[in-house]
Amino acid sequence: MIDKLIQGYEEYRNHYFRDNYDLLHKLGTEGQSPKTAFITCCDSRFNPLLITNSNPGDLFIIRNVAALVPPFQEVSGWHGTSAAVEYAVRHLEVEDIIVMGHSDCGGVKSLLSDEEIEDKDSFIPAWMSIAKQAREDALNDHPNTDKPERLPCACEQEVVKLSLKNLATFPWVKERLESKKLALHGWYYDLVSGEVLSYRPGTDSYKPVLCK
Ligand SMILES: [Zn+2]
Repeated sequence: MIDKLIQGYEEYRNHYFRDNYDLLHKLGTEGQSPKTAFITCCDSRFNPLLITNSNPGDLFIIRNVAALVPPFQEVSGWHGTSAAVEYAVRHLEVEDIIVMGHSDCGGVKSLLSDEEIEDKDSFIPAWMSIAKQAREDALNDHPNTDKPERLPCACEQEVVKLSLKNLATFPWVKERLESKKLALHGWYYDLVSGEVLSYRPGTDSYKPVLCK
């Protein structure tokens, strides 16, 4: 596999890097100034740059398991996602933050699974516990569901809403939301259809992003 990647890098150097030299040189020497932060899952099956037809330098991409944003916490810790959000908001001064969940999300599946993971070396249950409320909300909205296949999708979409809610607990996010210097957006990507839905807070529903 590594040989294939090295070969791929050679292709990149000979073609993409050469063809886009001016842009890449400018970014490398003058720094980045993306206007959008894009928070999404680590899943390998999609790429925010491809989905949005963007170029290097356009998106400040933060990826973690299930596109989760924890709530603001004053206690110190290894707050990787919070630190990346802080950099995007306070230093890069992005104008938009997109949180994008997706279908068939392994992180969300583990949240819905009733099996307790007893592995004390696992970081995943503690991380996913941030989204416990999203699980409850999805279960409440679909009690005795006769369509169990809807549940993961509902939970994935609830997780996006929760991350948006948690983002607003960061004081410097809240401040910029109030002064309209920053806007938050919730997206949901269907891996099979390629459709992107966007969350509409007014109706508490998701609609195709292309539908105005
Ligand atoms: Zn995922």
